[in-house]
Amino acid sequence: MKALLFTFSGIIALTFFLFAIVFIFEKEKRASLSTLLIGTLISLPFFITGMFFSTTIVISYSLIAIYSFLGIVLLLPTSPNKYKVSKTYPARFDEREIMFSRAELVPETERFKEYYENHPNHKLLDDKFREKPGLMSEKSQKYHPLKFASANANFEVVHSFVQNIKDSEIKSKIIETSPLDLSIYLKKWAKQLGVVSIGICKLKDEHLYSHKGRGAGYALKIEKKHSFAIAFSVEMDKKMMDLAPDAETVLESSQQYLNAGAIAAQIAVFIRNLGYSARPHFDGNYEVICPLVARDAGLGEIGRMGLLMTPELGPRVRIGVVTTDIPLLTDSYKADYSVFDFCTKCKKCADNCPSRAISFENMKEKNGVTRWTINHEACFTYWTIVGTDCGKCMQVCPYSHPNNFMHNLVRKGIKNSHIFASFALKMDDVFYGRKPGNKKYKSPFD
Ligand code: SF4
Ligand code: SF4
Repeated sequence: MKALLFTFSGIIALTFFLFAIVFIFEKEKRASLSTLLIGTLISLPFFITGMFFSTTIVISYSLIAIYSFLGIVLLLPTSPNKYKVSKTYPARFDEREIMFSRAELVPETERFKEYYENHPNHKLLDDKFREKPGLMSEKSQKYHPLKFASANANFEVVHSFVQNIKDSEIKSKIIETSPLDLSIYLKKWAKQLGVVSIGICKLKDEHLYSHKGRGAGYALKIEKKHSFAIAFSVEMDKKMMDLAPDAETVLESSQQYLNAGAIAAQIAVFIRNLGYSARPHFDGNYEVICPLVARDAGLGEIGRMGLLMTPELGPRVRIGVVTTDIPLLTDSYKADYSVFDFCTKCKKCADNCPSRAISFENMKEKNGVTRWTINHEACFTYWTIVGTDCGKCMQVCPYSHPNNFMHNLVRKGIKNSHIFASFALKMDDVFYGRKPGNKKYKSPFD
């Protein structure tokens, strides 16, 4: 019995010690110390019993039984299958209504007048952000001449793709491939290029904006030209996002817009080289609503903050999309109730959002679709004050932790059991704090 108790104590202490080491590598001092403390508290009863009461069989077995029971309660699969999931899509959204399009409107111009004649309810809200310094402005709170110049360089480079790649020609006659072989090859190649996840779905009308809102084709009706969509995610660097809403955030966003854009362009040109039509979608050049396409391609679920929550990195990703006519094998979307359940309980993004743009309420039905919606005007207005795209919600989200063995174990537990999910949520607050702030993090540039 003594040996059994010491073994139990040792296994628990070692597991928590290993987790504490992982936290040290992640530079999470608070999480590391909390893990050591909790590990000690959990393993100590076995150690003490082994030392002093091993002959008292009742105490020893009771201890093992209690811990085993708690373990079973946490690990037993339980499904939170109580959330209503819409089978429909929102009505096609007009890109002219997104905040980036509205921010590009120039006062006194015909386009400006026409927009606000058609959307008088947006005028007052947009006047508020027009009074602020602006995104990447010299007068914004987080202005940094070098980091903002780097971010601008990334945006300029990605926009240059718009001219050169978007509508380039199909280069060869059709090269026959099987949809299965091609899909497998494409996914393997994309992983080589640096994507975290990739999926394929049938392109639906509802994936597309109704009208263009940015660039040369402003106000043009968007038609469905392709049958398939390839969606992929690229990682936003954790260290950079831990500094949200500092200048590092917009530098990292622009970098990943560029990476996602480059990979989308590579895939599109590759498909054209096989004799089929393909179009990359990237910053300033979208015809599709990326999170919707990515969700239907099986890349994740839409969470409280309105972003795609991927199983690997939560919302800490950028999404790239290529639409095409080349025959491909599609993946499928299955509603992930564990995300709805976790987001319903968590609300950490809402608690930390400096502009209060994220709702604390449960999902609601809006235009026939049950989902969370955020206050885009409030969010964007905050961006124009700080000068960056903030990213605080992404930083604090418990799903955003690194893609490693320890966090993946927790992610599996959350998916498996809603009781474990509640426990993991409490632990996240203990380890990282309910409102973590960013003072403890050091910029890679300092
Ligand atoms: S912070 Fe919490 S509520 Fe917000 S998206 Fe992440 S898991 Fe959901
Ligand atoms: S980016 Fe910032 S302001 Fe916008 S919703 Fe997220 S936390 Fe709020």
